Amino acid sequence: MLVSSHELRGDPMVPIGQLYRPAGTLDVRSILITAILGVTAAVLGAGVVWLWERSPIPTLVVLTPCIQGMFVGGVMAFAVGRLRMRTPRLIAVVGFTCGLLSIFFVHYGHYVSMVTSTAAALRVQVIQNPAIPEARRKELVDKLDSDPASVVDKLLAMRTGHSGFIGSMFLRNEQGFTIKGRHESGTFVWIMWGFESLIAGLVAASVPTAIASRPYCEDCGYWCDRPTDLVTLPAAVSEPLLQALRDDHPARVAELRSNPPPFDETGFLDIALHNCPGCDLCFANVTRRYTKKKETKFVPLVKMCRISPEAAAALRSTTTTTTVGDHEQEQEQEEEPRSGQPQYPEEVGGGWHSEHGHGHGHGQAGTPV
Ligand SMILES: [Zn+2]
Repeated sequence: MLVSSHELRGDPMVPIGQLYRPAGTLDVRSILITAILGVTAAVLGAGVVWLWERSPIPTLVVLTPCIQGMFVGGVMAFAVGRLRMRTPRLIAVVGFTCGLLSIFFVHYGHYVSMVTSTAAALRVQVIQNPAIPEARRKELVDKLDSDPASVVDKLLAMRTGHSGFIGSMFLRNEQGFTIKGRHESGTFVWIMWGFESLIAGLVAASVPTAIASRPYCEDCGYWCDRPTDLVTLPAAVSEPLLQALRDDHPARVAELRSNPPPFDETGFLDIALHNCPGCDLCFANVTRRYTKKKETKFVPLVKMCRISPEAAAALRSTTTTTTVGDHEQEQEQEEEPRSGQPQYPEEVGGGWHSEHGHGHGHGQAGTPV
């Protein structure tokens, strides 16, 4: 599976019947741009959260780091999409690091404000204390003005045994915070901080990684992530259909498509076809959908399996519809792509052109369906 004929030819395209795998190479320039944007977003996100934590608005245990991670990850995802990066693992590492950095910057922001406010308070004390001789007073005030951190760091070291930023963490940990009406400090607060860092890191990693993992046509230079067609069949055809797609039996696919068994309680099989806007490269995303206790459940059966143009055409064939009837209408209201209708190239092609700039495929109006 690792060495296909495509790979031997140096062609990273996924063979028919196999799942899409990102085949991007390390591009230093792109990863640098993404990392710089990630760090910038980490600083901005940290600034907002720092203000939020200082404001009277209560922060939310899981949600705040989640939002922070989403912001950092979202900015990176934008770069990943634009730069067409297909190195999900590398992007996951960079995203996770940026998420952690963002949390670190919030803590560091608290340290800086601790230095500023403590120095200001000390300054007032020094000035108002008549016991301090004039010369000494001036010396102390100068010191507080020129290098407040050195003074505050010494106090932190005396208080916690740790100087500087680490000392501020120990002091803030000791002071703790109130959660659900209970005051917490010590170990619990350390765990919470670790937990928050982990959430922000994981969310910041997963958002751009998902973008980099989308199917991509290496030949045309397009993402193929938007479904161009959605076909709904009874879930009863799951096994034979998936087998036919894996083995590339378009005739069998056509047969299952045109003579499906009746719908039953096993639910529906949603087959989303993701086509390259520039060629006939096609991936099928197959999900089983059923209702249990009035709740619609989705079970992904196959994620982005490459299928042949013939199999895709067999699935798209709209020669039969009858039994699907009502169900498909229900479906259409929930899902964006209309089932059955070969609606691109107008819609999808148009979207792609604007997103991917120029230089690619302006002559694609006649994309084969
Ligand atoms: Zn293509």
